[in-house]
Amino acid sequence: MPEPTEHRLPAGETPFRLGVRGLCPRCGRGHLFEGFLSLKKQCEVCGLDYSFADPADGPAFFVMSIVAVPVTIFAAWLELRHEPPFWMHLLTTFPLLIVSSLALLRPFKGWLVCSQYINKAAESRFGPPRS
Ligand SMILES: [Zn+2]
Repeated sequence: MPEPTEHRLPAGETPFRLGVRGLCPRCGRGHLFEGFLSLKKQCEVCGLDYSFADPADGPAFFVMSIVAVPVTIFAAWLELRHEPPFWMHLLTTFPLLIVSSLALLRPFKGWLVCSQYINKAAESRFGPPRS
């Protein structure tokens, strides 16, 4: 795989702004995603090879960490305030957890991929330093 030599974002863009919209970090016009969370092989506009992109479980970790607090607070509030039967949590807390997690996964994955691009993040390797 040829290494991209220059890692710049389009003018006025940030990795966050591009990532949450699922746009290519190099041109800002192509799309990152092929499906809900699957990345394309390359940008359809500028041809940037997305093989560098490997956020692994990073997006899931951040989303779990962010979603867990308000959903847990909601569940505790619901339980302490109304003392509902257990199935009420299945109808309220559980869907809240799933929907909010799914809503944040794609933007976070896009953000992390764009951040990988601009920071040249990759697994460590032995050998001469890359440019
Ligand atoms: Zn592109």
